[in-house]
Parts: sequence; structure tokens; C-alpha cells
Amino acid sequence: MASMRRIAVLTGGGDAPGMNPAIRAVVRTAAAAGVEVYGIRQAYTGLLAGDFERLTSRDVSGIIGRGGTILQTARNLEFKTVQGQKRGLRRLNEHGIDGLVVIGGDGSLRGALALHELGFPVVGVPGTIDNDIWGTNMAVGTDTALNTILDAIDKLRDTAASHERCFLLEVMGRNCGYLALMGGILGGAEFVMIPEHPTTLEEIGKVLENAYMRGKSHAMGVIAEGATPKIHEVAEYLSQHEVGFEVRITVLGHVVRGGSPGAFDRLLATRLGVKAVELLLAGESGIMVGLHGREIGTVSLEDATTKQRAVSEEYISMAEILAK
Ligand code: ATP
Repeated sequence: MASMRRIAVLTGGGDAPGMNPAIRAVVRTAAAAGVEVYGIRQAYTGLLAGDFERLTSRDVSGIIGRGGTILQTARNLEFKTVQGQKRGLRRLNEHGIDGLVVIGGDGSLRGALALHELGFPVVGVPGTIDNDIWGTNMAVGTDTALNTILDAIDKLRDTAASHERCFLLEVMGRNCGYLALMGGILGGAEFVMIPEHPTTLEEIGKVLENAYMRGKSHAMGVIAEGATPKIHEVAEYLSQHEVGFEVRITVLGHVVRGGSPGAFDRLLATRLGVKAVELLLAGESGIMVGLHGREIGTVSLEDATTKQRAVSEEYISMAEILAK
């Protein structure tokens, strides 16, 4: 295989804190190997539009601590079609690109797999606050998002305790309850609701009633946005059934995506970005780099995008036991 002279990088799906340090690591690792890097703006939308910009080491100065992604991100339906993928491949060839690093969630990685299957060299980096990607202990962005949630929980607890209130906190997570579950355990919540583990209103009511009667001064429930029943139904039920606490709702929303990446995410993003480029330049393709124990390892993009990450039963029971 001819050696690579020019590679490209894009960030896809929802933005996650840590995407910038990953871009920086890609650009500087390639530069050190004498390889040019192009950034593709707005993920597969920019790929199809030919929105490429040359990124030098100086262009990524000062971004290691910035949230979001300097390349921006977008959702693109056309790229889900084979025709769209072929057009994307054509754009890469027009720009003389020899390989691509895709940083993003499972949808973005499916796009990366499609390009690999068309014969284009691609390496994926898991970047999503959801932590729903098989083949890495943690995705870039999850740890920072979790810390933002804990900050919110700690603040809500201060006000909850002053008024004997129960706060219901909704956090992102349409299909994956990782953030709600870990936020609940680490924030000391009385209950957690996640999509993978349906709960009934009666069960939640009992938990809170017991907490009130055992003398707790306040309570907290962390609810993933995809969990059923929904946060407003829970609030209505608790208010009607007089569990003891007054109920208040907070929806954290997109706040969770923002902010400066923490130390963990900066390090993870940097290690994954470096490894992705090293492997791409060594001729690898169709793989995703990930955190395996303390080491950076790889899995196939096929496995990363088809295998399901199981919710930890150990954490679910921990959340229940430690809330007593
Ligand atoms: P997050 O986990 O933060 O939502 P994501 O990468 O999973 O991130 P998606 O919206 O699922 O976010 O996917 C991002 C983009 O990847 C899509 O808008 C689309 O352009 C592309 N994509 C998704 N699925 C496929 C697919 N099966 N084949 C090709 N491209 C895809």
C-alpha cells in the first residue's frame, strides 16, 4: 500500500466535550509524521458539500480545553444511503485524501463503516456523552457530562434540603441510561429511572414514602429522558399520592453537552486521537480505538456498531442499596 500523505478528520452526531482535544491529537500526530490533515466541517454534510479545510498544528492551538467541536457537527440523512456514501467517497478522492478519522457516536461510526466497506481507509474514535458504544469502557465526553450532572445534583440538593423537597432531575439519554444511573449513584439519589429498566409509578411512590418516613430531609430522583414513565407523569403521581415531600422538576437538557472537557476526557481524547492516526498510517482500517482496562485497544467497526452495550446489573442494584 502506498504511504499516506493526506488524511481528514470529522466529528459527527451529538457534540461531546473532548472532541476538540481529539482533533488536536489527530492533527499533531499526523503533522509529526509529515502527513497533511484536512478538517471536514459539519460531519457528513460537509463531506458531501466538499467543505474541507486544511488544519495545521497552529490551527488547533488553544482548543484542548474548549467544549464542543471546532469542526462543528450535523446530522445528514443522505449519507445513510449508498448513493450518498459513494458521493462522499468521490469528494474524499477529489481532495486527494488517503484516510479518514471519524470521531462520534454509533451513527457516525456506522457511516465510517460504510466508507470502509467501499474500500476507503477509516478509523473511528468513540465520542458521545451517552457512553452507549460497544468496545470502549468510556467514550470521549461521558465523564465531563457526568461531572456536569453531579454539579447540578449537588446544587439541587442544597435547595431541596432547605425545603423538604423531592427534586426530579431529567438528564439526556434517549436509549441509554448510563448518565442517569451513574449520576444517581454518585449524586446520592433516592431513585434512578433508565430506559433499559422500566419502573412503575407505584414503586417510585413507595421508595419516596419510605424515604420520608425514615426521616430523610429531602430526596432526589434522576430520570433519563428515554425512561418510562416520563418525568411529568412521575411528578403528577407523587403530588397526588402525598408521599411527604413537595415535588419539583428540573430538566438539564443541553447543558450536559457543554463545558470544558475534564482531565479524564482530555487524556482519553488525546490517547485515542494519537492511536487512531498511528493505526491509520500503519495501514489499518475498519476499526475503532477504545479504552480497554487502562490500555488503548481496538475493535472492528462492525462489532462497535452492531453489538449492544449491556446495562450493568451491578450498578442498578448498587443504586438501590445505597439509596436506603
Ligand atoms: P450521538 O450518540 O451523540 O447521537 P451519533 O453519531 O450516534 O451520535 P446519529 O445522529 O445517530 O448520531 O448519527 C450521526 C450521522 O451519522 C447521521 O446524521 C448520518 O449522517 C450518519 N449515519 C448514521 N447512521 C448511518 C448509517 N447506518 N450509515 C451511514 N451513515 C449513517
